[in-house]
Parts: sequence; structure tokens; C-alpha cells
Amino acid sequence: MHGRPATRERLVPFIAGDGKNLSLINIRGPAPPTRAPVLLVHGAGVRSGVFRAPVPVTIVDALVARGHDVWLEDWRASIEVPPNPWTLDQAARYDHPAAVRKVTEETGADRLKAIIHCQGSTSFMMSACAGLVPQVDTIITNAVSLHPVVPAWSRAKLRYAVPVASRFLSYLDPSWGDHPPPGAATVITRLVKAAHTECGSTVCKLVSFTYGSGFPALWRHENLGGDTHDTWIPREFGPVPLSFFRQMDQCVRSGHLVAYEHLDGLPDDYTAQEPRTDARVVFLAGELNRCFLPESQRLSYDFFAGFGPHRHALHILPGYSHLDVFFGERAHLDVFPLIIEELAGTPARHRGDR
Ligand SMILES: [Zn+2]
Repeated sequence: MHGRPATRERLVPFIAGDGKNLSLINIRGPAPPTRAPVLLVHGAGVRSGVFRAPVPVTIVDALVARGHDVWLEDWRASIEVPPNPWTLDQAARYDHPAAVRKVTEETGADRLKAIIHCQGSTSFMMSACAGLVPQVDTIITNAVSLHPVVPAWSRAKLRYAVPVASRFLSYLDPSWGDHPPPGAATVITRLVKAAHTECGSTVCKLVSFTYGSGFPALWRHENLGGDTHDTWIPREFGPVPLSFFRQMDQCVRSGHLVAYEHLDGLPDDYTAQEPRTDARVVFLAGELNRCFLPESQRLSYDFFAGFGPHRHALHILPGYSHLDVFFGERAHLDVFPLIIEELAGTPARHRGDR
């Protein structure tokens, strides 16, 4: 077991704009925070615990040690929330603006920072571009934001496999593991186990099948500790609705995020107008990401830079993939210092920067 610095944490419920019950976890060190609140937003089919793996130092530890007031958001895609056919539009319109408002109410701060990952990032960037989170002055986004670019095999799965799977299933769930329910889930799990021979974890293989193209797709095995891979990951992944994959197929085909549900207050095309945010945006991408290719973040950086040259930043992280950016065994040495510097607005130059 790794020693954690002493922290106090509390669960803070909040109500999304459409009435859904969601929650935040606030984590503080023994001394009162000396720096701005930071909101961390997880990706699809996991929960806020994804930022707290059994690694030597988590991103939460690093932020608390730096004096930040840390807030983890469990939005409607969290496996802490009962399974629901969520869409990015719902999260953008209802969840993130309410979470940001709750943090400002609880802390008294009028500005805060956000670290957002994958589908927490796409949906949060939708909120930002629609002008719904004006309190956020710095955004650190990992993996994908406005321009989802995926490997050819993922494009084929989105286009051809998702419509077929949708006839038999409402959700894909890596936690099926070695005990999938009968029917389509068992067929999928058998096929995935036959195709993936890179490790002994069925959950790890199902995560790769569900979210990307690679062996594995969301991390490099050499970046993970044994405890993280064998014990922790199998507990941290759960159901993700096929409705989400239909939306992602539409966005991948468009080359950028587009509306799926056309909710009031959200644009139909997120790249058709200037983003309605004054936040400085720092784009991170693992060089070896096989879920969303680094090109995703390059395109979004270029889009933002078109409105604010020399204001935003892009860092391609050598040797990293998708989620090992946060729960790699060496992320506290390779990645977190960069995040801390960027939150303070004092970044040094790094390899792979623009
Ligand atoms: Zn594995």
C-alpha cells in the first residue's frame, strides 16, 4: 500500500440542470488551500476514482500538495450513477455548468481551473464553447477535445459494429470480465479474448475493444504498476451506453463535435464559431494514444490558436497513451509537474511542445 498524504474529503451532492442527482468529492490537505479550486472531470464508463489509482503519487495528491482545493466531478457517465443513455449534449448542457456553479458556491471563489479527460473533456469543452462555464479560466484537456480522430479500426467499429451491437445490447461493459451475461455479451467477450493475447486480464482486453484500437488501447502496459493493472483497473470500468458510440460515430465522420440532441443553449457545430470562453486551454496528448490519435488535440489546438495566437499550449507526451497519463507509475514525474506548471501559468518548454 502506498502512503497517502493526510487529506480530508467530503461528498458534495449537486443537482444537474435537468434534475439529475450527481455529486462532487472535495479533497483538501490538512492546511486550508492556498490556490484556486481545480475541478477534475473523468471520462466515459469510469468514475472520479480514475484519478486516484494505487500509484506512488496521484494527480490529486500532487494538486493538494501544491495547495489547490481539489474537486472531483461524478457526472452522468460515472459508474457511480445508475446506468443511463447519456449523451455529450446532456453533460454539456446540464452537468458541468451545475458542477462549476456548485464549486464556486462552496468555495466562494469566482474563478476556477479544470482538468478534463476524454469524454469528460469533449463534453466540458462543449460547455465552454457554448459559454456555459465562464468561471473557468484555465482548462487542461487530455486526449481529445473538439476534434475526435480515431484509428481506422475504431472508425470501422463505430460505423459497422455499433449498429449491429445496438440490436442486442444497450451497453458495453468491460466489467463483464470472465463472467459475461449470456447472449451477445458472451459472444463479444469470447471474440475479444481470442483476438487479444497481450495480457491475462479480460477486463483490460474488453477496455481495449470498447474504447480503441490497440493491444492495449488506453495505456502502455510498461507504464502501469502491477497492482493498478491486475487489481484496480478491473474495479474501475463499468457500463457505457451504445447511444454514446452513435454520437461519437457522427462526430468522427464530421471531423469535429456536432450536436446529437440539439438542446437549447448548445450550438449544432462546435467549430462553426469562436468559442465563448476566455479560458487558456492546454492540450495534452499521449504520443502513443490508440483511443484518440494525438492529431485530435493538434487540430483543436490549431482551432483555438486561430482565435488567440500564443495564448494556448499543446504538449505531446512521449511514451504515453491515453489514461496512463494519469495512472502511470511514473506520471508523477513525467506528467504532473507539467500540469502543475500550466495551472500556475508558468510552463517551461517540454519535448513535443507547440
Ligand atoms: Zn492488460
